[in-house]
Amino acid sequence: MTKKIGLFWLRDDFRITKNDGLIEATINHDHVVVFYLYKEETYKDQEAQKWWLSKSLSNFKKKLDSLKINLEIVRSNSFKIFFDELVKKQDFTIYWNKVYEPEYLKFDKYLSNILENRNISFKRLKGNSLNEIDEIKKNDGSPFKVFTPFWRNAEKYYIEKIPSKEKKIKTCKKKINYFKNCIKPEKILPKKKWFKNFEKIWSPNEESGLEQLQNFIKDKIINYSEGRNFPNITGTSKLSPFIKFGQIHVETIWNECINKKPKNIGTTKFLAEIGWREFNHSLINHFPHMLKNNYSKKFDKFPWEKNSKFLSAWKKGLTGYPIVDAGMRELYTTGWMHNRVRMIVGSFLVKHLLINWKEGEKYFKNCLLDYSPASNVAGWQWVAGCGADAAPYFRIFNPILQGEKFDKEGEYVKKWVPELRNLSKKFIHKPWEFNEPGFELGRDYPLPIVKHEEARAKALKAFKKI
Ligand SMILES: Cc1cc2nc3c(=O)[nH]c(=O)nc-3n(C[C@H](O)[C@H](O)[C@H](O)COP(=O)(O)OP(=O)(O)OC[C@H]3O[C@@H](n4cnc5c(N)ncnc54)[C@H](O)[C@@H]3O)c2cc1C
Repeated sequence: MTKKIGLFWLRDDFRITKNDGLIEATINHDHVVVFYLYKEETYKDQEAQKWWLSKSLSNFKKKLDSLKINLEIVRSNSFKIFFDELVKKQDFTIYWNKVYEPEYLKFDKYLSNILENRNISFKRLKGNSLNEIDEIKKNDGSPFKVFTPFWRNAEKYYIEKIPSKEKKIKTCKKKINYFKNCIKPEKILPKKKWFKNFEKIWSPNEESGLEQLQNFIKDKIINYSEGRNFPNITGTSKLSPFIKFGQIHVETIWNECINKKPKNIGTTKFLAEIGWREFNHSLINHFPHMLKNNYSKKFDKFPWEKNSKFLSAWKKGLTGYPIVDAGMRELYTTGWMHNRVRMIVGSFLVKHLLINWKEGEKYFKNCLLDYSPASNVAGWQWVAGCGADAAPYFRIFNPILQGEKFDKEGEYVKKWVPELRNLSKKFIHKPWEFNEPGFELGRDYPLPIVKHEEARAKALKAFKKI
């Protein structure tokens, strides 16, 4: 046992189970301090996640207290300045888990170098992923660009890996303070109080994530292949924000799914979605240009239109297309949107309104609790047709048919667009055909901002230009 203090740099790892860096620190040190570096700049366009982060910090702090570990939050606008200062001290060993984003991995190299130069010991451990990014490549060493062969290889590689022995966290000797000028988790909360709704829906802590997983495996996973398509039911796990913030490790998800029930089509499909997350992380690390620009360069010439009126109607859920509006309102109210509806609203923005996917990506980033650069950028580029293994641009979702197929009775629409609650299922996805006293289109609910057939033809014409 070394006399030095064990520091654990907390990033997206708000958990005790399978938190390699934190566990290792408690095994090697009597005194451990966990610190979170809050970079205001990063969160300036991630308002919803400020709420999840703040709650995660206060919940995790309580949990760590019981293990006699202090969690300190330090405001820092530059990781570089912070660590250049920290390494002047020599009384610590530092641990952290990887975050599989190019900027973080690049910074890891910088940090490892300065620590080595100062003779400070450190350990950088595996992050929230089944495999490491470089482990899954084609035979010729190049990265996969198509999901199916990627996942076939990744799944096989993971199954054949010899699992490392699971270590357990240790209670420390005494809680100590290490950093100066720490801030309280409440300081991170967004100024606007719209997040009050989130409090009724989500509990950002490890226990809730694990419980949600158990309930999902018990009741839902068996029908996941089918159930995941219907936004009016809870057919998916809703684990995405827990996974993003590392309240649950994907290896835990894998093990629980495999151990609890014989593998069935639902489990296979569910684990393949975890596979999409891995694929997206592989993509952004091998093709980092896609974080800011089109993965497919030919889309650089796409004739996007700027239309602030349309963009604003889309954001507010006032497009006149019920399934689109329901999705956008669900997002704003709950910080989450069903995957099927993410595809529908995404397609509507990019294809019906011809607005650049980057605008949608930006808005989702601000509103989603599960926002992750890899899955958001890849999701948007998949929808827009400019991503790797994407839906072809010319396949344009028809919001009426999508609604009629996946929200047959209109329950989802009625939940989020209550002004349509009196419409029968015949009209719920095309309220412009509803002609009854007491309901006036344009007054009670917006007229469609574009006509589907015209918008579709225009989008196809625009696509021909590239
Ligand atoms: C335009 C667009 C933007 C998206 N932005 C994000 C984002 O910022 N963050 C995010 O986590 N997901 C994103 N997704 C993917 C997907 O919509 C969500 O992961 C999913 O809806 C989360 O709900 P769930 O936890 O119930 O998923 P489940 O269906 O229960 O799936 C389990 C887990 O697998 C992963 N997953 C599921 N579907 C996908 C997918 N298509 N791509 C990548 N991972 C997936 C998630 O971690 C999810 O929690 C986006 C999809 C689209 C079309």
